[in-house]
Formats: sequence, C-alpha cells, structure tokens
Amino acid sequence: TDPILEIRDLRVDYGYGADAVTALSGVSLTLHRGEILGIAGESGCGKSTLAYAATRLLPPPGLVTGGAVLLHGAPGTPPVDLLSLPDAALRSRRWRDVAVVFQGALSSLNPVHRIRTQLTDAIAAHDPSSTRRSRLDRARELLAMVKLPEDRLSAYPHQLSGGMRQRVMIAMALALEPQVLILDEPTTALDVVVQKQIVEQLLELRERLGFSVVFITHDVSLLISYADRIAVMYAGEVVEVADAESIYREPRHPYTHALLNSFPPLQGPRRVVTGIGGAPPDLAALPPGCRFHPRCPYRMPACAERHPGLVASPYPGDDGRTVACLLHGTDDTTAVPAALAPR
Ligand code: SF4
Ligand code: MG
Repeated sequence: TDPILEIRDLRVDYGYGADAVTALSGVSLTLHRGEILGIAGESGCGKSTLAYAATRLLPPPGLVTGGAVLLHGAPGTPPVDLLSLPDAALRSRRWRDVAVVFQGALSSLNPVHRIRTQLTDAIAAHDPSSTRRSRLDRARELLAMVKLPEDRLSAYPHQLSGGMRQRVMIAMALALEPQVLILDEPTTALDVVVQKQIVEQLLELRERLGFSVVFITHDVSLLISYADRIAVMYAGEVVEVADAESIYREPRHPYTHALLNSFPPLQGPRRVVTGIGGAPPDLAALPPGCRFHPRCPYRMPACAERHPGLVASPYPGDDGRTVACLLHGTDDTTAVPAALAPR
C-alpha cells in the first residue's frame, strides 16, 4: 500500500471552552494512491467537517484541536503536514495537490459570469503566470475532459443543468491536476441517471489522470458500486473501514448493517429497505459507551459502559479491515457469530 494522504487522529470542536462541542473525536484514515475512498454516514456525523478540517478550510467557530493531515510526495521524500504548513505554503498546495468540491457547490458558480470567465479566473488565481491564451486553451481542455461541448463556455450557469454545473465544478477542481480530489456529496442534488454518469466519468478521469479520490456521501449504495474502500462514520468517529465488497457482503458494525439496509442497491436484487430506527445523537450530549448503543439492535450491557475503539477485525480474511464494536475484537466476541444476520 502506497499512501497519498494520511489523516491522523483529527479532532475538531465547534465553539470554545465550556460551550465546545466535539464534532470529530480522533479520526484516522488513509487514502492510497489511485484509489477511491468512500466516506459514508448520516448527515451530522462529521463527514463534511472532515473535508473542511483536512484542507484547513473549516469556517469558525470550527477549530481543529489536534491531529495531522500528511500529504505524501514522491517516494523517498518526507510527507508534509497540511495542518502545520505556513499559510502561504498551504495556499499553493491547495488546488495544486489537494482540491475540494464542497457540498452545495452547485450554487457556488457566479450567476453573472459565463463559464469561460469562471474557468479562466480559477486558473489565473492558482497560476498567475499563465497567459490569457493558455488559460483559454486550458478552459477548453477542461470542458472537453468532463465531456461538455465547447459552446458551453459562453453559457451562464443558469443555462446549464445541475449535472452540467457539477461537471464544471469538477473541471475547475481538476484545473491544476491535483493528486487528491475531495468530493463532498457531489451528486446528491442530481437524479440517479445523472449521478451515475458523473461518477462513471470521474472513474474514467481518474484512470487517465491518476488522481486519488475521497468521495463523501450519505448514500452508501453509490459507494458500494464505485468506491474501492469505504469508511463508515457515526457521531464524529469512524466505526468501520473495509473494501467496498466486504462492506456490502458482510458488514461487521451494526451501524454499517443498518445503513446498508436503508438504501436500495443500485444494482443487484431488490431487498426490503428497513431504515434505521431513532436519530443520531446530539453531539453536545453523547451517550456513554458506544455512541450507537441507543439505536443498536445488537447491544449488550457492556455497550453502555465501554467505548469501543477502532481496531483490526479479528476474523480470518479480514486483512486491512477495522471495526469499532464490542461484538468484535473483545472478550465478548466468543458469544457472537462473526457475521451479522443476513440482510
Ligand atoms: Fe452495538 Fe455494542 Fe457494537 Fe455498539 S458496541 S455497535 S452497541 S454491539
Ligand atoms: Mg455534509
């Protein structure tokens, strides 16, 4: 495994002092070169906070209180910690090395400027030495890359469909050929057919340009089809990480299991969608022990007292898989079968 981005023990609070609410309580994740890492979880679990914090774009009162975000360069060179880089160095790394398309980006295109202007302005902002001519050429190239016809350059955002606008956003993010692309709910506002087209195009671009992707979505079924690995988050923590197929075939964490049951699969046989009972906890009043225990159909008495850490799954064939649940990897394991009931 060859890591490109390593998030280590990332901690984020909203607010200060006694009013501080912890939104990320020590998240560690590794993105490997060339892979698509999916991050799934209900809204409010900290997925977007993770994207903002890792790129140091967290708006106040959000505050990173600990951790590191290591960006690896060429083999043999030491990684840089994005969280401790001086501002100027960070500005040049962002977009050039790590680009982000945030949730709600569809509405962030400027309504009074043509697509051409927005693309060339973005290129100019990050590459001031470029000529007008080269920026226009690059804008054309970028548009072709996301398969939009060239005449769309003179369109205004309102003249484009939601799917086309999202492609423009992706084109902008790829303008400086970043190594890492972070996408927060990139297809959520789009219908299923367009979602699929955009994700497939992204896969094609990744093939061609060789970047790595962090794909954040509440829709785990999308990740099952397209991600290489999936990290499931709950209440500010990662509760399970495994390759997409293992997550689908044999979810280990009861929350992963519930999450899968709340989404109809994009392909394969239809099954009953049961949903998840209850609501995610208030981050200001987290339950003791396992944060999922009030909603967990598998909870045991110990679950209200002991907080499960994310540890290697103990079962044969689970290499590289981690899970945070007392059913697995503790002395309670003996009483419980490795696999949860079939969906
Ligand atoms: Fe459920 Fe207990 Fe596992 Fe938490 S630790 S997910 S409550 S079984
Ligand atoms: Mg979000």
